[in-house]
This record gives sequence, C-alpha cells and structure tokens, in this order.
Amino acid sequence: MKPEFIIIHHSATDRDQTSFESVNEFHKQKWNFKSKLGYYIGYQYFITADGKLYQGRADDETGAHTIGYNINSIGICLAGNFMVEQPTPAQINSLESLVASKREQWNIPVKNILGHREVGQTLCPGDNLMSWVKEYREKFLQVEKPKTKEEIKVEIIKLLEQL
Ligand SMILES: [Zn+2]
Repeated sequence: MKPEFIIIHHSATDRDQTSFESVNEFHKQKWNFKSKLGYYIGYQYFITADGKLYQGRADDETGAHTIGYNINSIGICLAGNFMVEQPTPAQINSLESLVASKREQWNIPVKNILGHREVGQTLCPGDNLMSWVKEYREKFLQVEKPKTKEEIKVEIIKLLEQL
C-alpha cells in the first residue's frame, strides 16, 4: 500500500549505545515479524547517533510501530530517549533528508508528518524530538499556505513600483 503518513519515533533507550542490530534483535524476540528485507525491526528506517541511516522494511510494507497506522505509514525511529537526551545534529540532518526524499517520492503532505504521541498513548518520540516535528511542519505549512489578499496587494504594489 502507498504510504500516506510519516511517523517519527524514538527508541526510548540510550542514544549512543543503541544500534540497529540491538533493536532488530529486541523486536525479533518480541514479535518475530520478518520484513521483505530480512529484518524484524518494526520501523521502516532507523537512524543511529552518528547519523547513519538503516532501512528495516520496504516503504510500502506493513510495519510494526504505530497501532492503526502500520499499513499506510513510514515509521522512522531515531536512537535515543528524547525525554532526557537531545538528538545529535547528524541524526537531525539524516532525518531531514530522509523526510524530504520520502515526501517527494510518495507525495506525502507535510501535515501528515506526525510524532507517534499524536496518534497514540505514548511519550514517543520524546519532547526533544517532538519539537522538531512541530517546527518542521510549521516551516513547510507556511510555504504551502495560500497568500492572503493583503499579502497579494503588497506584492502588486512592489511590482508596480518597479515599472
Ligand atoms: Zn513510537
């Protein structure tokens, strides 16, 4: 199924100690639900503290990360507990490029980029990553928002002045 949402998560574990392999192993023990790519991790993507990106599931494959959204969303998880830690600049860089490319590839509207807590009873992705999600949406919603009459008037006046 075509993904319609991007849902952001944190691992809720120590940022610098959490690897793709450790989460994959944890999920294997938990539900043993193997992806087409041969992994058990419930997220489509995982970003470690050094900014390295791992893919665990195909974009259009059912995930195991957000109840009610597993069949139509891309789950992205960053290693860390962002209730108490901050994401690294490298993690944020990778996240921004990944979100940009997936939005473009699947034509996902910016309003459909969500933090896990917005659609479930959880603290995930932690306050310090949730703030990134909100800022990201605001930044791009501004761009997508139609102009007001007043803004258009100002632009026309500017153009006329150039004549
Ligand atoms: Zn989550």
